[in-house]
Amino acid sequence: MNRIRCITFDLDDTLWSCQPVITEAERRFHGWLLERFPFLTQHYPDLDTLIAHRSECYQRHPSLHHDMTLLRKRWLEELAVRHALGDAWIEEGFRVFWLARNEVELYPEARQVLEGLKSHFIIGAITNGNADVRHIGVDHYFDFVLTSAESGVAKPDPGIFFLALKKAGVKAHECLHVGDNLETDIQGARACGIHAVWVNADSHTHEKTRMADAVVRHVGELPQVLHLDGVWSAAH
Ligand SMILES: [Mg+2]
Repeated sequence: MNRIRCITFDLDDTLWSCQPVITEAERRFHGWLLERFPFLTQHYPDLDTLIAHRSECYQRHPSLHHDMTLLRKRWLEELAVRHALGDAWIEEGFRVFWLARNEVELYPEARQVLEGLKSHFIIGAITNGNADVRHIGVDHYFDFVLTSAESGVAKPDPGIFFLALKKAGVKAHECLHVGDNLETDIQGARACGIHAVWVNADSHTHEKTRMADAVVRHVGELPQVLHLDGVWSAAH
């Protein structure tokens, strides 16, 4: 790994905790929806019934899974048709979710590491989600951000990784991807010849672990990995 020029990061659950934020965003949207259309309470009395409807809709649209924004709006359109809600509320309803979904808190160690790496490497973000680094206020850490919506395909599709290499102007062996998902991040990157570090926060054991060049518990351990491989000192 001693010729690394670019480091790309997955965002959700790699640089910040995501699931509690998504759950809260769903909860806030549910509350907003019932306030706007009180009669929907009989159909979606609790969050679970609403999420069940969303999940069922998402399953019917696999071709949109690379674009979480489009997918959610499609669901809202279906809700509108199903309950004759009109469509004037859709953009606002989406924004209620989106604003809450972007209320993420960067892990303290992530901030420190990104700060340290950015003057030595090209830093990118590759995400399958619709987090907005600019809105979150962390865009200054990244030279580029690549979303699956923009790419037209989601990780682990090689297309998104090759597009990242093109954006960075580096070859696969000069790039290191860091992420928490073994399939989308690690397997995806390795299939393209990109180095990969698995963020294994819960110390899971898995046979696919072997695919990663290194395993860390959090991104704060990344400089240590780079030091060990001589990448960090080479970059200095
Ligand atoms: Mg992730």
